[in-house]
Amino acid sequence: MTAPTHRVGEPAWDAWGDPTRAHRLTDDQRALISQVLGVAAATDAPRTPETELRLPRSALSPAARAALAAAVGPAHVNTRPAARLRRAGGKSTPDLLRRRAGDVAGAPDAVVSPADHDQVAAVLAACAEHGVAVVPFGGGTSVVGGVEPLRGDFAAAVCLDLRRLDRLLALDPVARTATLQAGLRTPEAEELLADYGMTLGHRPQSYEYATIGGYAATRSAGQDSAGYGRFDSMVLALRAATPRGTLDLGRAPASAAGPDLRQLLLGSEGVFGVITEVTLRVRPLPAAEHEEAWSVPDFAAGTEALRALAQGGLRPTLVRLSDPVETYVNAALAGGEAPRGCLAVVRCEGDPAHVAAAREAAATALRAVGGTPLGEEPVAHWRAGRYSAPYLRDALLDAGVLAETLETAATWTRLPGLRRAVTDALTAALSGGGAPAPLVLCHISHVYPEGASLYFTVAAAAGPDPLERWRAAKRAAGDAIAAHGGTITHHHAVGTDHRPWLGAEVGDLGVEVLRAVKRALDPAGVLNPGKLIPEAAEPDR
Ligand SMILES: Cc1cc2nc3c(=O)[nH]c(=O)nc-3n(C[C@H](O)[C@H](O)[C@H](O)COP(=O)(O)OP(=O)(O)OC[C@H]3O[C@@H](n4cnc5c(N)ncnc54)[C@H](O)[C@@H]3O)c2cc1C
Repeated sequence: MTAPTHRVGEPAWDAWGDPTRAHRLTDDQRALISQVLGVAAATDAPRTPETELRLPRSALSPAARAALAAAVGPAHVNTRPAARLRRAGGKSTPDLLRRRAGDVAGAPDAVVSPADHDQVAAVLAACAEHGVAVVPFGGGTSVVGGVEPLRGDFAAAVCLDLRRLDRLLALDPVARTATLQAGLRTPEAEELLADYGMTLGHRPQSYEYATIGGYAATRSAGQDSAGYGRFDSMVLALRAATPRGTLDLGRAPASAAGPDLRQLLLGSEGVFGVITEVTLRVRPLPAAEHEEAWSVPDFAAGTEALRALAQGGLRPTLVRLSDPVETYVNAALAGGEAPRGCLAVVRCEGDPAHVAAAREAAATALRAVGGTPLGEEPVAHWRAGRYSAPYLRDALLDAGVLAETLETAATWTRLPGLRRAVTDALTAALSGGGAPAPLVLCHISHVYPEGASLYFTVAAAAGPDPLERWRAAKRAAGDAIAAHGGTITHHHAVGTDHRPWLGAEVGDLGVEVLRAVKRALDPAGVLNPGKLIPEAAEPDR
């Protein structure tokens, strides 16, 4: 068993990630914000200092606390405010706005840190016995309310912090599989795999903080999904602790042994059990790579090229197509000139023969729709900043801009109508009151033979009540997605925020099945209350 030598530090409580990497807006960026969004962004609103926050006293009963201490050791049941504050929720814009406004009443009553599978099982048993809600917490990067410490019917909730489960348990170079513990963050997992010349190739924008268990529990998609696949498609086997016992699922690359029970845990968002180990397909570190940006005349032409590529035999590792607004805004923020039409980005990794062939396939598809190559520089620029956008979001919030993202997916046939409908819904919901129209940016970043995902970024004047403003916009966008044949989430998962739309997506019987599984695995209902599974009477969204 090997642990990483470099561990990623604690993220900020009121912002995305490493506080020392906070983005400072340039004068040009402030001028652009003021001109386009009508926000007087000359100065930042002050943030509430941590010392001014008052967390409620821990509501954990002495008996529950003693049982948890017996499960993981007293040193690993932490009720100090700093630890509870940093586990008080995820990293969506509403999460950050609430915490910045001093709303920390819902912080967990303790942070409990088990060291292995057996300790996780012991924590679940203690919580079931003492009636304590337990919220599995990987990187805490959820943007859908997945790690909000909701109590449900219980008086107390603990955060089950999985950070100490950070080992590479096994690597099989013949089968090319690796068994990783759930609390490993991606840079740590990649460090351990690189020692064996292997990589996961899973690179979501939350790469630096999100964990192996979190990816499995949310069915995450990395930016290189065209080449490496979604996270759930990489899972060969997994181990999960539930209040009823342990599930060990998956042993062969394919099986006809009844329904695939791994799928019950993949995307289960901590409501059925806690994933403690995942056995994943790994690939050799790429021997060659090539990346290139293209300009295509418009979004329809670019979409056509991406469809041809996704349906052809040879796929690049990454393909991405920005709409004209995103193409323009990204160039303006970087202080450069926007290319004509839309920017497409292609990256190919693997052995040299594959890279050459995939590169040629991409060039053929993009040329066929009138695309022109722009060289490597725009991609290098995009790649250098691929994990920095959340820091820019934080700086925009400071400057009075409401900035947030949402995503969906649909078939190629439905994609154009879906994009129009969501863009219109967001624009209408965030317009009015004399403020300039919001900016709604869109790109395609995950492609399949049958369709693709759409990822929207929204920026608007925050106004006096940004939380309510976003709630209305999100509701309008969710309704538009449901009405136009999209899924309510392609990779961010359901959490609390998408729960109101899940019933319509899986049907009443589907919801009943989810509830039945919950009853079978977690009869006391202590695991992550209020997430994923729709309730009989859904609260107003
Ligand atoms: C800036 C930013 C960019 C993002 N970019 C992407 C992206 O490109 N692609 C993408 O797919 N997602 C993205 N996300 C969303 C998020 O990072 C993913 O959902 C990620 O998979 C969550 O991993 P985590 O370890 O942080 O999980 P957490 O946020 O800790 O938890 C997510 C959910 O899973 C549950 N959970 C966590 N660990 C376990 C476990 N071991 N067993 C059972 N349940 C568990 C939690 O209770 C919660 O419900 C982004 C988020 C942010 C803030």
